Amino acid sequence: MEYINSFLRFIPVKFIQYFLLAGIPFLIFYVWKSSAFIKSKIQSKNALNKDFKREILHSLVTMMIIILMQVIFLVSPIKEYTLLYLEIDKYGPWFIPVSLLIALVIHDTYFYWMHRLVHHPRLFKIVHLVHHKSTNPSPWTSYSFQFFESISEAMILPILVFILPMHPISLMLFSFSSFAINVYGHLGYEILPKWFRKSWLFEIVNSSVYHNLHHSRFKGNYGLYFRVWDRLMKTEHPSYVAEYDKIQERRFGKSIAAIVLFTSLFFAPNLEGFAQQNDIKGIWQDEETNGLVNISVKDGKYFGKLLSFGNDEDDSILKKETVYILKEFEKESATQYCCGRVYLPKSKIHLDGEITVLNPNRLKIELIIGYVYKKEVFLKRAKGS
Ligand SMILES: [Zn+2]
Ligand SMILES: [Zn+2]
Repeated sequence: MEYINSFLRFIPVKFIQYFLLAGIPFLIFYVWKSSAFIKSKIQSKNALNKDFKREILHSLVTMMIIILMQVIFLVSPIKEYTLLYLEIDKYGPWFIPVSLLIALVIHDTYFYWMHRLVHHPRLFKIVHLVHHKSTNPSPWTSYSFQFFESISEAMILPILVFILPMHPISLMLFSFSSFAINVYGHLGYEILPKWFRKSWLFEIVNSSVYHNLHHSRFKGNYGLYFRVWDRLMKTEHPSYVAEYDKIQERRFGKSIAAIVLFTSLFFAPNLEGFAQQNDIKGIWQDEETNGLVNISVKDGKYFGKLLSFGNDEDDSILKKETVYILKEFEKESATQYCCGRVYLPKSKIHLDGEITVLNPNRLKIELIIGYVYKKEVFLKRAKGS
């Protein structure tokens, strides 16, 4: 009975947190929609009412699971085994903000690896697909998870209280700031001030553009609060900084681009040479079919048609057939070409594709079906091209 009472007592707290922290930004950016915010909008398209409904519905379930975790680890006798403490003097008042910061670092680390795991094709559909149905996220997306992901997300509570001494004030601040940052990450608008780009914080902390890219591209930028794990594991989206600058430039004018150019020149004087060396123009050979593709550029976009030369066993005549056609790839960075379409004439379908330059002589083309990366094609540069 005591546990049921605690469960019921926690419900309004969690609901108020969700509906205020996600609801107020939603009212400001999505209902009121002042024209002043247009320049801050990350994606040009708008999320739909049916998205908001789905997100809120899933969030209600997530909140129930979080409350259940709170009852188990903060109310039941299990709490005696946690490192929670009640006397502030035990570690001193200074430990409140310090433990909050450590908790955010632990959460970011846990989230990064859990997030990468749930992107595994075997887990994606049953654990993480619902969250990615929001390709254009809104504040309501913050808790929009399916059942197993809600449990994984809520597991941060036992992880924290078993490894980090925390005062209830610190735990409350963690819950509040964690959710507030989450709402900001899904806001759909970039609101960071201009000075942030020049600050050292930009190198470490992520932004709304950062997580938005994860939702629009399904891949890369797995971190929750920080860029650190993504940068260490080379999973940061290669166009992140350019995308961030594009939006901030729209909001504040050109000066940011000048800084980027300056830092690029300063840190990578050979960037242009590197990019030219890695340009994908030319003839490539499919490692699987041995077919050849000539990648050309038109209006800054890359095209190509891959012809396979399959052996016709009956009469040894070489048969030529189109395996796929690459359309409208755009260069994002020296090694990344994105957002193109790949047409498969045999099955008459168009797929999204990304091209990565693995080295100047080897390309990887990823064909994307739905939410999962389905197929990888490797090409090697043909001699003399
Ligand atoms: Zn994800
Ligand atoms: Zn998200």
